[in-house]
Amino acid sequence: MNLFRIRGIQLAVHFSFFLLLAFVAQAGWQDSGWPGLLWGVGTLVAFFSCVVLHELGHSFTAMHFGIGVRRILLMPIGGMAEFDDIPRQPSRELLITLAGPAVNFLIVAVLWVAVGFPAGWPQADYPANATGFAQLLLHWNLIMGCFNLVPVFPMDGGRILRALLATRMQYLRATFWAASVGKVLAVLGGLTALLLFHTWLTAVLFAFIFYAGEMEYRAVQRREIEDAHWRAVLARAYAATVPPPVAEPPMLRQ
Ligand code: ZN
Repeated sequence: MNLFRIRGIQLAVHFSFFLLLAFVAQAGWQDSGWPGLLWGVGTLVAFFSCVVLHELGHSFTAMHFGIGVRRILLMPIGGMAEFDDIPRQPSRELLITLAGPAVNFLIVAVLWVAVGFPAGWPQADYPANATGFAQLLLHWNLIMGCFNLVPVFPMDGGRILRALLATRMQYLRATFWAASVGKVLAVLGGLTALLLFHTWLTAVLFAFIFYAGEMEYRAVQRREIEDAHWRAVLARAYAATVPPPVAEPPMLRQ
C-alpha cells in the first residue's frame, strides 16, 4: 500500500505490516486497555519512522550520486529502499551504505543529549511517559545501527565488506566472498537464536537474510554474464559494420 512521497520517493507499506500493527495493538489492549494500546501503537510507529529515516539516509546519499530511488518498502522485518542501480564504485557504495546506520547513531546522539542514556541498559525499564518513550527509541536506534553493521550480506555491514573487498578484487568475486561470509554468519546467528535464545522470529529473519544474500549474489552474477554477452554482441556488431581494412595501414619503410 502506498502512503506518500518524500522528495519523489514513494513510501509503501507491505500488508503484513498491518498484521504486526494489529498484533501490537491487541497485546497492548490486553495488557492495560487504551493506554497500553496507544503505547504499543505509538512506539511501533515511532520505531518504523526511524527505519524510514535510516532508509532515507541511504536514499538521499544515492540520489546525491545521481541514482534514482523508486520507493521505500516497510515490512515487519524492516525497511528496504529500492534503487534503480547499485553503484559499482566501492567508494560510493560505501558512503551510501554507511549513511543508513549513521542516521541511527545520529538519533541516538540527539536523544542521549535530550533525555540521557537509559539507566541499567540493556535491561532498562522504560516508563510509559515521554522520557521512557525517548529512551526506548534511543535503545532501538542503538540496536538498529549496530545490528545493520554486522557483516551479513546483503545487510549494510555485508555491503560495506563487499565495497572494501571490491577495492582489491573483481566485483563479482567481492560479492561472492561477502555473501559467503554472510551465509556462515547467518547460519551461526540463526542457530544461536534457535538453540540458545529459542527465538523463532530471529531465526526466520536470519534465514531470510541468508536467502536474500544468495539472491543478490545470483543477480550480480547474472548481470555480469549479461554484460559479457552484450560486450560480445557489440564487438561482433562493430566487427560486422566496420569494413575490414582493405589495405595495410601505410607504414614508413625503413
Ligand atoms: Zn541500511
